[in-house]
Amino acid sequence: MSKREHLPRSPGVSEDPREHKDTNTPAGKIWFRDLDEAVIEADRCIQCGSCAAACPSDSIGIDDIDGKPTLVKMCTGCSRCWDFCPRSGLRYERVIAEAERDREGSTSAYAVRAADGETQVAGQDGGAVTALLGELLAAGELDGAVVAREREDEPLRGEAVLATSREELLANAGSVFTQPMQLGEIDRLVAESSLSDPDLALVGTPCVIQGVSALQSFGRPGERDEIALTVALFCTRSFEADRLRSVLRDHGVDPAAVDSLDVSDGKLFAYGEEETLLETDVEAFDAAGLSGCGECADFTGRAADISAGNVASPDSATTFVVRGERGDEALSAAVDALDVEDLDDDTALRKLAGWNKRQAEQTLPRAFDPEGSLSIGYEQHREQYDDTDREPQPQNPARTHQYERWC
Ligand SMILES: Cc1cc2nc3c(=O)[nH]c(=O)nc-3n(C[C@H](O)[C@H](O)[C@H](O)COP(=O)(O)OP(=O)(O)OC[C@H]3O[C@@H](n4cnc5c(N)ncnc54)[C@H](O)[C@@H]3O)c2cc1C
Ligand code: SF4
Ligand code: SF4
Repeated sequence: MSKREHLPRSPGVSEDPREHKDTNTPAGKIWFRDLDEAVIEADRCIQCGSCAAACPSDSIGIDDIDGKPTLVKMCTGCSRCWDFCPRSGLRYERVIAEAERDREGSTSAYAVRAADGETQVAGQDGGAVTALLGELLAAGELDGAVVAREREDEPLRGEAVLATSREELLANAGSVFTQPMQLGEIDRLVAESSLSDPDLALVGTPCVIQGVSALQSFGRPGERDEIALTVALFCTRSFEADRLRSVLRDHGVDPAAVDSLDVSDGKLFAYGEEETLLETDVEAFDAAGLSGCGECADFTGRAADISAGNVASPDSATTFVVRGERGDEALSAAVDALDVEDLDDDTALRKLAGWNKRQAEQTLPRAFDPEGSLSIGYEQHREQYDDTDREPQPQNPARTHQYERWC
């Protein structure tokens, strides 16, 4: 599978996104601590990992306690973390608009099931994502796929994993409803593998795919070019692991006994190994959601080559939205492992995507503007967000300590 062509840069756009900001570029540097205050401590971080992936000095790691970005080395104030954060400096809707403009070919929707029964049962819905990636690996179209699993030491907290075989994909099938911060983990995962210069698939929530799309299209030449296929999972929100466990406990469910979760038709289901532990309205879990998800208008992950979800498909099938040449090529190459039918009626999909967008437009303190400047400057962001009445998150003392040490 060919790697993505680099997007032609707009006239006057330099390789350094700090220089190509088309408006509001502040004179001074923007430090990680600025991002931390404006996004992470303000409880707006969606744990997409873009800041960690964008940092050229690997100064941003993942906090082991809360799973959020944290400084692990000296911050140089290069501002890339700000520039690529979809909750601060990056106008994510413009990234999506650029990806759609850049794409050649059409967009189609299908109801898809893994052809093999074991994969279908292991998958969250139709097992189609697992089957697709497994077939692409087996055919040598991909060398690996960055997917997610639940951490062994912490119930319901996701972590990134690099699968290089069908078996590894099967072992990690199913949805993890907390963010694995995979964009910040790709370099480590590849370094720990036997792969060299691999072609990878990346699976993630739409915000993760926005980050990759921005880095590939507006980052440095060749940046994140190892990602040859992006698969978005439909998403109205993800959960914060600690809060998710707490709300489950409030409902009398031991998080350690939860084998899998599902959200379907407005209900949240928690399943144990053999029984349903909980079925309740998903609103009961509002407090466990990532607050920053409220600003997200990208239910289907429009920057992705393929998006997958359950809405609009029959039970035990996955809805696939397949976009452009890369999406088409991937589906064609994996078709032997899939049962694919046209999606007869996409009304439910359109309704949910429309509802999600309207909610986000009401929540975003700034204008939702796909044609607006790609970058949002620090001062402009503060002006737009400082008037909001969000409660700041309790401060993690480790962060303050790190500013003193590193900034
Ligand atoms: C946070 C979240 C919210 C979602 N909300 C909706 C929704 O509102 N409506 C809807 O229709 N669908 C939603 N989905 C998608 C749905 O749950 C399924 O993931 C999708 O239908 C694919 O099913 P499948 O059986 O084909 O996937 P599977 O064959 O089970 O494969 C899923 C693949 O994704 C990987 N994965 C799982 N979770 C993550 C993650 N968090 N980050 C990165 N990789 C991951 C797995 O390791 C596996 O490789 C959501 C998914 C997530 C993670
Ligand atoms: S939203 Fe994403 S880019 Fe922004 S701080 Fe959080 S993890 Fe980093
Ligand atoms: S709702 Fe949007 S911001 Fe939140 S996890 Fe899903 S894709 Fe990311």
